[in-house]
Amino acid sequence: MPDLTLTDEQKDLRELAHSFAEKDMRNVAWEYDKDGTWPEDVMRKAWEVGLMNTHIDEEYGGPGLDYLSGCLIEEEFGWGCSGIGTSLACNGLASAPVALGGSDEVKKEYLGMLTEEYKLASFCLTEPDAGSDVSGMKTTAVKKGDTYVLNGSKCFITNGQYADWYTVYAKTDKEAGHRGISAFVVPRDDTVIIDKKEDKLGQRASNTATVTFNETEVPAENLLGEENKGFKLAMMTLDRTRPGVASMAVGIARAAFEFAAEYSKERTQFGVPIAMHQAVAFMIADMATDVEASRLLTWKSALDLDQGRRNTLSSSHAKRFSADTAMRVATDAVQVYGGYGFIKDYPVEKLMRDAKIMQIYEGTSQIQRLVIAKEVLLGRNVEQPAEPVPA
Ligand SMILES: Cc1cc2nc3c(=O)[nH]c(=O)nc-3n(C[C@H](O)[C@H](O)[C@H](O)COP(=O)(O)OP(=O)(O)OC[C@H]3O[C@@H](n4cnc5c(N)ncnc54)[C@H](O)[C@@H]3O)c2cc1C
Repeated sequence: MPDLTLTDEQKDLRELAHSFAEKDMRNVAWEYDKDGTWPEDVMRKAWEVGLMNTHIDEEYGGPGLDYLSGCLIEEEFGWGCSGIGTSLACNGLASAPVALGGSDEVKKEYLGMLTEEYKLASFCLTEPDAGSDVSGMKTTAVKKGDTYVLNGSKCFITNGQYADWYTVYAKTDKEAGHRGISAFVVPRDDTVIIDKKEDKLGQRASNTATVTFNETEVPAENLLGEENKGFKLAMMTLDRTRPGVASMAVGIARAAFEFAAEYSKERTQFGVPIAMHQAVAFMIADMATDVEASRLLTWKSALDLDQGRRNTLSSSHAKRFSADTAMRVATDAVQVYGGYGFIKDYPVEKLMRDAKIMQIYEGTSQIQRLVIAKEVLLGRNVEQPAEPVPA
């Protein structure tokens, strides 16, 4: 059995993240959920205490943490408030393609921007007609001299309204499907227009917006990796961010499990605490097992990366199972609360609403199954080393 003991540094980091989640996220989570309040104060504090941009290398001002450490932080974010947590983690999603495909100058400029002061970045892949299948995207990037000019709209962009720069995927060859996509880092200027802030079912404190690029010009050096290799960069990015997303789902499930277990000991029906009814106790038992199993899959997918192995399969296992677990556990937590679970004065209905998005963003549960099926049917070697970075 591999040793899963955390180092002292990892334990301290988890403690820091837990204390932040408890004191700075939970105390405003239900309030901010009500009106979809942008959690600027929480975001700035997270930056100050060092809980943002944790994967950025020391060379560019970050702590260069390993992926398992990132998972420890994101589980606590999910436990505290996954709406705020999604916005806190978004710089990691936007900066991964830059770290993978940017030149040293681009990394210094854009990763450095995030570590020098509190700044935000967004990841712009999805379009109205191109969600799970990004090959149909319509945003274009046309090379003009030593610049690229971008035109098109991206929807559902986390932190889109507040970002200082964007990682944008655009077609550089319209006829070539996913082989015609390139990635760019795009600073915000007057040609970047925020069209719409979404009013959401859950994770209401995170910002989700439509971002339109209207004749937006960037230097040719802002191309990340090679032209027409953006799809590969996006997939490599998601391999690196899915362990964190899965951890956020573990955090939601753990919160729902804890609330349900506590309530089941307090609520009395038929003369005994409802935890004494086997049907309820078994729901609690299944929650506990699923939280544990999700965490193990998630840690495995992070350890694969940290130890230099390809984690496409393990990160899809982790993301799919943890997201579905979060939804199931949060739904069962509402069941354990009975009618009170359906009422906003109690904490679990928010968790059920928040959990739903975990099955949708960064690849739906169906898309994860497609990846898993492809990987296992092709018989890919699970011990395969990680693919080389494309830049
Ligand atoms: C709150 C929120 C935040 C987001 N943040 C970002 C962000 O920061 N950046 C970004 O680029 N995007 C972001 N997204 C977009 C998100 O990644 C997409 O919504 C997601 O990839 C699904 O795309 P879609 O919504 O177009 O659904 P569709 O692709 O239209 O899918 C609809 C349904 O069909 C299923 N389906 C589709 N194709 C298949 C298939 N081949 N086999 C089986 N089932 C299939 C899907 O699983 C789903 O159930 C965000 C979305 C939300 C709601």
